[in-house]
Amino acid sequence: MSLFIKDALLDGKTTSILIEQDTIVGIGNDLPMPIDVNVIDASHFAVLPTFANMHTHAAMTLFRGYGDDHPLQEWLNEWIWPAERNLDDEIVYWGTRLACLEMIKSGTTLFNDMYFFPDAAARAVVDSGIRAMIGFTGFDFGDKEGAEKLKKDITEWFDNSKFKVQNSKLLTPVVAPHAPYTVSDSTLKWLSNFAAERDLLYHIHMSETQKEVEDSLLSHGTRPYRHLADLGILEQCGERFIGAHSLHLDNEEINLLGQHHVTVVHNPNSNLKLGSGYRFMYNELRDAGVNVTLGTDGCSSSNNLDMLEATKTMALLQKGWRGDPTAMPAKEALQVASRNGFKATGINAGKIEVGAKADLLLVDLDNIGFIPNNDTLSNYIYAAHSDAINTVICNGQPVMQNRKVKDEATIKEEAKRVVKKLIKK
Ligand SMILES: [Zn+2]
Repeated sequence: MSLFIKDALLDGKTTSILIEQDTIVGIGNDLPMPIDVNVIDASHFAVLPTFANMHTHAAMTLFRGYGDDHPLQEWLNEWIWPAERNLDDEIVYWGTRLACLEMIKSGTTLFNDMYFFPDAAARAVVDSGIRAMIGFTGFDFGDKEGAEKLKKDITEWFDNSKFKVQNSKLLTPVVAPHAPYTVSDSTLKWLSNFAAERDLLYHIHMSETQKEVEDSLLSHGTRPYRHLADLGILEQCGERFIGAHSLHLDNEEINLLGQHHVTVVHNPNSNLKLGSGYRFMYNELRDAGVNVTLGTDGCSSSNNLDMLEATKTMALLQKGWRGDPTAMPAKEALQVASRNGFKATGINAGKIEVGAKADLLLVDLDNIGFIPNNDTLSNYIYAAHSDAINTVICNGQPVMQNRKVKDEATIKEEAKRVVKKLIKK
């Protein structure tokens, strides 16, 4: 069935949008109305592209508020890692459903995930109706047996995934080594070759803390990105490389990233909360030719998956640390949070244009953040909260209307149930 969004505000003008299957096929005031069509009256709404959350650990929604405000290593060693030993298929499924519910309610239709039990996560995404890059993650900590097991597991998963991840139109499998300090050089390189052979994205944590950079200088004699370049990984992956965080960079590294046209993911709320830093080199990376995207990181560090909130934090941080109110204007902030993320994953979305995939949302102009509506985009990024988002459409299908999402009550109850298996007090 077609979808007709009638009389929405788009770039300051009232217009209508026609969606056939998964694609925007018409924008204008005199579109022919198909016979079999679902009409959404959007006369109180503005239409905007949905968000692409480019770095998540979705099932970690179940760790929301658990062990906050402790030093990083203590938090990992005494809180998160012991509880993660309890993870199973069911916990990851409902944790990921909860994440998808929260993402839909805050306007996200694509996320780039890195966590365990990827088949359970994939199933949760399919049941939620949004898009995800499902990362097969792992580490070997330099252990030979661990490395062989990781290579065997990853090959088997990509060859025989139970839920046929590769065959779903909304899911894409991704190689996701945890970080250069938890995965040995030889395994990092092996995974890079594996990703090249199968044309897969390579998603990894990079240069999140100053300590990580200092440790790399001590163990390899170079900074983390220089080290990956020396291994040939940046060159081999090029545009398929996604470096989460990428916060502590020098000029040489920024140039290297630009040269290879990689994608980086800024996670401002996570970086602030964990005290990792706030001087993200946005202008420098953009000018060097890097595709800069935005993420929330997992709920154990950023506590929510709200991309509208993350977009505001990102824009304010750029203005703040640069001492420049013209840094990162609202339009550019939305582009980073939406279009650039879709671009990194090869999906033609993040824009309201004929021919683009129909991933879009409607915000309620009666919401307090839009009154008065002197500038819709400014109100959206700087004033409104995500409760202003009324309707979300992913790949041509409504996944939220009037703030109602399928299975919401069940997802909340199941999340409350399975967290008792994960966190045993
Ligand atoms: Zn992360």
